[in-house]
Amino acid sequence: MADPDKSSIALDHVRQGIATALAQSGRASDACDLLAVSKTFPATAIRSLYAHGQRAFGENYVQELVDKAAELADLPDLAWHFIGPLQSNKTRQVAAIADWVHSVDRAKIAERLAEQRPSELAPLNVCIQVNVSGEASKSGCAPTEALALAQLLLQLAPRLRLRGLMCIPDPAAAPVALRAQFAALRQLLDDLNRAGMVLDTLSMGMSADLALAIAEGATMVRVGSAIFGARKPTVAPGEAP
Ligand SMILES: *Cc1c(COP(=O)(O)O)cnc(C)c1O
Repeated sequence: MADPDKSSIALDHVRQGIATALAQSGRASDACDLLAVSKTFPATAIRSLYAHGQRAFGENYVQELVDKAAELADLPDLAWHFIGPLQSNKTRQVAAIADWVHSVDRAKIAERLAEQRPSELAPLNVCIQVNVSGEASKSGCAPTEALALAQLLLQLAPRLRLRGLMCIPDPAAAPVALRAQFAALRQLLDDLNRAGMVLDTLSMGMSADLALAIAEGATMVRVGSAIFGARKPTVAPGEAP
């Protein structure tokens, strides 16, 4: 259970950890944003971090996103980031609520999100999820598919706005291998930008590895347990429930 006081203290620690990692990498103090991953924790936990200045929250499961967005509809500027696996029969709900989707990994999902994004809302920010670890069970497109998917996403403007890339590395990897996976995502972003794109987001790094990810150029870290505490065992990050 997330204790409101504990989680705002933990939020401060995480913010400090990000600042330290940025300074150690010689990067600007505002070069990496914090996404608070609130999956499995109640709307009340989000409300108390909102009171502590946090605005961006990440959810993995569509129904949880729908329920919490309804409960927290009174909070201005709260930004919802959908970061979980997305099935095509759930895209409509996500397109109506989310400000960002980090887990676009195939054309069909991208096309549906673009078609279903309500026209009165701002463009939906999206990242392409790339499977940098090569694990067969992971979601994400293969690195070799990223360029074609990015080109397709750019054609889905203005309803979608392609911002960059996201990865969930193999959690069992040793630090050296982990760092290589983050570096691979950064290189892929550099390649896309050299091909003429203007992408500004590398969504990588979680509670256990955010400093490594920041050293490799992360511009957004997605942090859950280091803020809210341990989750009840459910499913591994990035896997379908
Ligand atoms: C759960 C989850 C996170 C947060 O993981 P922690 O280890 O709790 O920080 C980040 N990204 C994705 C995609 C997740 O599913």
